[in-house]
Amino acid sequence: MKRTRIAQVLASEDIGAKITVMGWVRTRRDSKGGFSFIEVNDGSSLSGIQIIADKKLPNYESEILKLQTGCSIKAVGTVVASPGKGQKVELQAEELEVLGWADPEVYPLQKKRHSFEFLRTIAHLRPRTNTFGAVARVRNAMSLAIHTFFQERGFIYLHTPIITGSDCEGAGEMFRVTAFDLDEVPQKEGKVDFEKDFFSTPANLTVSGQLEAEIYALSMGDVYTFGPTFRAENSNTSRHLAEFWMVEPEMAFCDLDGNVDLAEEFIKYIINDVLEKCEEDMAFFNRFIDKSVIETLEGVVSKEFERLTYTEAIEVLGKAKEQFEFPVDWGSDLQSEHERYLCEKVFKKPVVLVDYPTGIKPFYMKVNEDGKTVRAMDVLVPKIGEIIGGSQREDDYDTLLKRIKETGLNPDDYWWYLELRKFGSAPHAGFGLGFERLIQFVTGMSNIRDVIPFQRTPGNVSF
Ligand code: ATP
Ligand code: MN
Repeated sequence: MKRTRIAQVLASEDIGAKITVMGWVRTRRDSKGGFSFIEVNDGSSLSGIQIIADKKLPNYESEILKLQTGCSIKAVGTVVASPGKGQKVELQAEELEVLGWADPEVYPLQKKRHSFEFLRTIAHLRPRTNTFGAVARVRNAMSLAIHTFFQERGFIYLHTPIITGSDCEGAGEMFRVTAFDLDEVPQKEGKVDFEKDFFSTPANLTVSGQLEAEIYALSMGDVYTFGPTFRAENSNTSRHLAEFWMVEPEMAFCDLDGNVDLAEEFIKYIINDVLEKCEEDMAFFNRFIDKSVIETLEGVVSKEFERLTYTEAIEVLGKAKEQFEFPVDWGSDLQSEHERYLCEKVFKKPVVLVDYPTGIKPFYMKVNEDGKTVRAMDVLVPKIGEIIGGSQREDDYDTLLKRIKETGLNPDDYWWYLELRKFGSAPHAGFGLGFERLIQFVTGMSNIRDVIPFQRTPGNVSF
């Protein structure tokens, strides 16, 4: 089944070419002159192609006049110049075959606008809409840009495990992985006997590939992961998923400043790439989703990110006239409202906060000389808040051991992580970027559930 993609037909404007296109009907319009216009989209671009079907086609009365939104067709024809506005070429059909019907009485996607909430319930059909097609193409382009960015800089792409025996954040918000029959879980002295389970020990879905990425950074220099991560946090927000994709570079011989530099360069690179390569889809988002999105992105790439310490940010927030829902005290974690205030109202651009209080950050972050703060960095952007979390890692054996114990973790579980600080330890740093949060930022889509093909959130595991 040889076909030409519609994006290519529209781009090449090859008048006179004889081609075959296949796709799904968006609309059909019949003219009094005895022919029909059929708008077809195949997902290769936001724009579809207009097909002109003449009444002389043998199946004109029997099939073509019955075509409705959602039917799939194959059209063989000649590319002709379009007299109409909005498109340069169209296809004069010489043959039009219906591949699959879609009964308009029951096909849920009609020409009218549907709410995003409704479209989530038909995730098997929503990629046929303009918005979800555009999101899928932008997500694809951004994935490639991520690899290109790191590969151009000599980073090694690393696959870290999905199933792990360690809890990176020590937060306990993990999904358990087990092969037990849950109706008959083996017990020993009143507790679950994990020795009888598949791995002979408790196992979880990973919340981050960082700890394993550190292993490879301390052998290969610069590495990155790009894969799924899981959090069993029951937060029903527009920025949290239970399964999401994370990009995690990890660099040996790198300190916190180098880490912040890379994060800034990375975000700007991805944005520039999307603005250049996804022009049509970005124009769509700017028109229908968020009228300021392109302006915001152009602002981000043209300005330097604001860098300040957590302590300085607390001072700024303390002086704010804004009424916050949550209080701001030194030592407490910033909420999204505080992060957004800094980006949107104070600095009007992305903000990087560094040197957070030790108490609100994980054990692996390098403790500063003051003993009270760690070399953490969060990158905050307008409308979203935190998009990246990272740090320089603790590379001193004794300090790390102390921090593991302080945070109530068992050093035995981290024996290999500790050994990396015993044998050829080196300063190193890295960060984690939530891929879907970056897609939200780039597209202006307000809910994270609409930038991943299939959402995993509390109560949702269909499709
Ligand atoms: P938040 O405070 O927003 O929940 P976090 O501090 O838990 O974020 P990290 O553990 O530092 O986040 O993870 C690194 C990045 O992964 C975050 O900056 C964010 O972009 C993304 N991220 C974290 N949790 C989620 C989630 N549940 N869904 C989607 N992305 C997430
Ligand atoms: Mn979180």
